Amino acid sequence: MKNKKAKIIIIIIIALLVLSSATLYLFLNSKRLVFEYDKVKEVSLNTKITNLDNIKNIKNGKILTEEAIIDTSKVDNLKITIEVEDYFKKIHAYTYNINVIDIEKPIITFKEKIESEKGKKIDLLKDVTASDDSNEDIEVLVEGEYDINKPGDYKLYYVAKDKSGNTAKEEFTLTIKEKKITTQNEIRPDATFTTSKGFSGVTKDGVTYIDGYLIANKTYSIPSSYGSGLTKETTNAFYEMKSAASLDGLNIYISSGFRSYNSQRIIYNNYVKRDGVDVADTYSARPGHSEHQTGLAFDVNIINDSFAGTPEAIWLDKNAYKYGFILRYPKGKTNETGYKYEPWHFRYVGKNLALVLYNNGNWLTMEDYFGITSAY
Ligand SMILES: [Zn+2]
Repeated sequence: MKNKKAKIIIIIIIALLVLSSATLYLFLNSKRLVFEYDKVKEVSLNTKITNLDNIKNIKNGKILTEEAIIDTSKVDNLKITIEVEDYFKKIHAYTYNINVIDIEKPIITFKEKIESEKGKKIDLLKDVTASDDSNEDIEVLVEGEYDINKPGDYKLYYVAKDKSGNTAKEEFTLTIKEKKITTQNEIRPDATFTTSKGFSGVTKDGVTYIDGYLIANKTYSIPSSYGSGLTKETTNAFYEMKSAASLDGLNIYISSGFRSYNSQRIIYNNYVKRDGVDVADTYSARPGHSEHQTGLAFDVNIINDSFAGTPEAIWLDKNAYKYGFILRYPKGKTNETGYKYEPWHFRYVGKNLALVLYNNGNWLTMEDYFGITSAY
């Protein structure tokens, strides 16, 4: 009997123990700390986040760490630690990583169309800038091929790459134009001046005279309306010279005499089309700059290099000065006259100056003698 009672008591105690244990287990379990977060979080540059934005779910705990803004202004790997106090006042530390990544390509500021002149050096990066959300210095490169000596449109690219490999590529057009031709439609203003060799010069109604001699070269233009034919003195002197040459058995004739501004414009423009401005300028005058428009100059016989060395060319070289003519563009004087050697081109200056410039067969140029330039 006694034994049976004791048995019952033990069973009750065991039952109570099991029950209380279960209750305690359930109680503790319900109070257990639950904490969820991404162990590695990727964010783009300059994303606005705090250290607590990555915490998704927390139960039965209190975050001790204060909220703070994360610096995402540069590409970086950041270690963030959060402290949480659980139900039993125990403190837990949780650590996670924030990878700040750059996924934006740089922004290039540029001009879509660039124009330049043939032969002119050009800095294609002059007004180009690149910026990136990473705040790093971005180098811009030009991709594509072009030739500053070949007029045309070139499709080129600006390329900018940031350290994370994000690449921006922007297309632009480079237009190389033919050199601008400064045609002298403008009339030179009236002026008086002294040349570097002390001669007095005067510009009146757009025409420049130095020591009384009309000058038309690359520096000194004449108005488009100027001239109507070879001057009487020029024609008379030419026939005098022609007669003298015929006595020596030579036939000298004018192949190209007076040329108006307009006809010079057509001739010059055709040369530019064929050879380009640079080459055309070595042998043909721009309109308003031609000596043929002055009525004082002409080309004889064959107007090309084959004329050099012919009996007529040799005779003219030795005798033209006697009739008031000068060989206007002598050999080796391109730097002074602005033109290559032209054995066929003669200019009337009168016998006095012609004798001086003949210089015993070693021709002086008007530019050298007067101390003036001939350049556009
Ligand atoms: Zn000529």
